Amino acid sequence: MAAVVGLAFSQGGVLGRFDITRAYSVTLNVLPPSLDCKRIYKTVQCVKISCPLWARLAKTQMEVDVKTPVETMYDKLGPKVVKALEKRFFEAWYFSDIPEAVEKVFSLIPKTDTVSWGGSTTAVSINLTTLAAEKGYTVIDRDKAANPEERIELMRKALLCDTYLAGTNAISEDGQLFNVDKNGNRTAAMIYGPRQVIVVAGMNKIVRAEADAWARLKAIAAPANAQRFPHLKTPCNETGSCAECLSADSICAYFVKTRLSMPKGKIKVILIGKNLGF
Ligand code: SF4
Repeated sequence: MAAVVGLAFSQGGVLGRFDITRAYSVTLNVLPPSLDCKRIYKTVQCVKISCPLWARLAKTQMEVDVKTPVETMYDKLGPKVVKALEKRFFEAWYFSDIPEAVEKVFSLIPKTDTVSWGGSTTAVSINLTTLAAEKGYTVIDRDKAANPEERIELMRKALLCDTYLAGTNAISEDGQLFNVDKNGNRTAAMIYGPRQVIVVAGMNKIVRAEADAWARLKAIAAPANAQRFPHLKTPCNETGSCAECLSADSICAYFVKTRLSMPKGKIKVILIGKNLGF
């Protein structure tokens, strides 16, 4: 392994010209425990080192990937969107990779906070909800409800938690958030109730302008979300395409634009240079 990493460093820029999509997958059983993966990552700019157990390198598997063109585009666009969000009083950060983003999320949450969340595929996919419980926060988790009535009560209580974790369906490049909701619990929490809202979004949620955001909600976010509930009788569950239905099962009741974060800084946005959620 030491030789492989040495190759990556010694050939530096040359590595970027290799036709490598998933170049190396190696076991670090010979690496010195003091090796700092984060530092390596920052040093080799065109290479991603994904090392989920940085504190236990001796038994860890490490992958070294070349960044895709889309990821490279995300790295350029992300900081620009952060600035646009900040102009609208959101606090915002961009991270190329998931581990740094997760670390940032929890650095924003006081240990005494009660934490809850909406139905965010992104938050689940990067383990935020599991980690919140593991890290000792008091959590309000509607999925732990024993019955439908308790679930509704937990969703109501979540509106007054300290930190609410949420995804978003679209963010325009000028820094506005767009969401579609069935019951309105997620959009309500984003507007008022929790002391702070932390929105975590993959860069696939970024669109050029407001019209593109509404289009994304109807073309991708809502029809894709509906597929998670195959029992719902909606046109999109039949065809994969939105028909602007008035079905009693429709998951599209509330279309909400968040133009500014008020009070200032209440909504924090963590952008990640990956495709996450839908
Ligand atoms: S068909 Fe109905 S439920 Fe499906 S995305 Fe369109 S409005 Fe929403």
